[in-house]
Amino acid sequence: MSDCLFCKIADKTIPAKLVYEDDRALAFRDLNPQAPTHVLIVPRKHIPSLNELTDADAALVGHLHVVARQVAHDEGIAADGYRVLFNTGKLAGQTVFHIHLHLIGGRALGWPPG
Ligand code: AMP
Ligand code: ZN
Repeated sequence: MSDCLFCKIADKTIPAKLVYEDDRALAFRDLNPQAPTHVLIVPRKHIPSLNELTDADAALVGHLHVVARQVAHDEGIAADGYRVLFNTGKLAGQTVFHIHLHLIGGRALGWPPG
């Protein structure tokens, strides 16, 4: 999608600090990190939010989690623990409407989230 920030990061029109990429997904550091490790894992396919997900996207969303596991390992946070989440819609604070899995770790995380 031409006016989508994360599509532009995926096609390298806008720079980001990439930590992983393959043919279906990429992962890059969040511009405004909320923890020592804060990485966004993004499909190359433009899907605005989980509300627009279809059954055909199930393997892709599974893949995002496999990438999260790999990045958590590479960041050295796998053993101590971390959180992955999708914000969906305005009450959850979603600001970029191209799905992205937040991978957050490197410090103790409160529960429930605010
Ligand atoms: P969300 O609120 O779940 O939609 O998350 C959007 C995230 O994207 C926020 O954590 C932002 O800090 C992050 N973000 C916005 N612009 C950029 C960018 N250009 N590069 C990396 N992260 C970004
Ligand atoms: Zn997009």
